[in-house]
Amino acid sequence: MRLSRFFMPILKENPKEAEIVSHRLMLRTGMIRQQSSGIYTWLPLGKRVLDKVNAIVREEQNRTGANELLMPTLQSAELWQESGRYDAYGKEMLRIKDRQDRPMLYGPTNEEMITDVFRSYVKSYRSLPLNLYHIQLKFRDEIRPRFGTMRSREFLMKDAYSFDLDREGAEHAYNKMFAAYLRTFSRMGLRAIPMRADTGPIGGNLSHEFIILAETGESEVFCHKDFLGFDIPGEDTNFDDVAGLKTIFDKWTSRYAATSEMHDEAAFNEVAEGDRVSARGIEVGHIFYFGTKYSEAMGAKVLGPDGKEHTVHMGSYGIGPTRLVPAIIEASHDDNGIIWPKSISPFDGVIINMKAGDAACDAACETLYSKLGAAGFDALLDDTDDRAGAKFASADLIGVPVQIIVGPRSIASGEVELKDRKTGERETMTVEAALNKLIATK
Ligand code: ATP
Ligand code: MG
Repeated sequence: MRLSRFFMPILKENPKEAEIVSHRLMLRTGMIRQQSSGIYTWLPLGKRVLDKVNAIVREEQNRTGANELLMPTLQSAELWQESGRYDAYGKEMLRIKDRQDRPMLYGPTNEEMITDVFRSYVKSYRSLPLNLYHIQLKFRDEIRPRFGTMRSREFLMKDAYSFDLDREGAEHAYNKMFAAYLRTFSRMGLRAIPMRADTGPIGGNLSHEFIILAETGESEVFCHKDFLGFDIPGEDTNFDDVAGLKTIFDKWTSRYAATSEMHDEAAFNEVAEGDRVSARGIEVGHIFYFGTKYSEAMGAKVLGPDGKEHTVHMGSYGIGPTRLVPAIIEASHDDNGIIWPKSISPFDGVIINMKAGDAACDAACETLYSKLGAAGFDALLDDTDDRAGAKFASADLIGVPVQIIVGPRSIASGEVELKDRKTGERETMTVEAALNKLIATK
């Protein structure tokens, strides 16, 4: 992408409305624009990052055997009347009437709709286990939307729903998502800690919130220091291995971890003082086993191997991609701007032409740009007429992992400079060597 052709409205001034660094940086770099309270447009730079986040979420869901579908944002109120949640949900639900005066709603979540999809087709235990998910916009009329897309009214959610014959099967389905979540967040450069969450009337310990530690987080959290060092399940994780996944679950729930709602001061005090972490956190995911709550109310049953009808056991599993983007920025930035982990950076690198119009600089930039592109390295070419200083500042601000600096002096001897955005390290090398290095380390 050529910067001269790329719609990236960088703001010179810090926006006053932004209270936290991620919101400020997302506005300054032109990633998002607020359209009305808690409702955002994702501009091209932001959209690139969001797509990368979604791609990782999708890959890790698919790895577990989950099936992607796409449900609508608008739902009929009827389904919610069946489960009893239409009246229970309260003011967070945006209720709408269509021209026939039929009550509709903008979905805040999809348990009812997925249960309806399931019951329409699945009649036998042979179709189980089943996990269906989508990545779709949700609307919750939050009383206090704030911090940009961290807590918005319209937001994207990956919501998955599992269906099993019995509790035992549902536990394995839960453990699959548990391991997949650890992998998903880790691939984005985040360490998410599963913390016990309230299961309400269902009981048991099968609900966890995945929390990123961050000073600006809205939740107060308490956990054991060991979580910072636990191994993340590898790419070779076998999601059909019931015992293997249980081992991962047991390990990651073997230490104290709770948000303030579930906090037990006495239990936390049993953790050695030096191992206690009290911090603030951001909830980026939430998994939940709820048994037959919806399947019972909505008649989702299958014929079991015993020839009898069984009400299916369900769980739901959410991740907030539009919250994850600011969460990653909270975890990875410095005074000059964002520092993207490679896996979700909007570009693989930026080529900075220090003197656009200079024949040698232009030619070297074009060579780099086309050869990198051909090798699958997605570069942003800063071909604008801005001053070199302004280009460096923008490159630091948007935070792509590597800057390829092409200036008249070094290019005279056939050389360019590579700058690592994170460490600030600089290296001078020939154009050829730079190409080899960038392509090899992409
Ligand atoms: P919170 O406690 O932060 O209000 P929640 O518990 O209501 O969230 P869930 O119903 O568990 O949220 O939704 C699953 C995921 O969707 C959350 O873990 C979060 O990542 C994301 N999410 C929920 N609400 C919002 C929101 N208002 N803005 C952005 N993302 C959200
Ligand atoms: Mg939650």
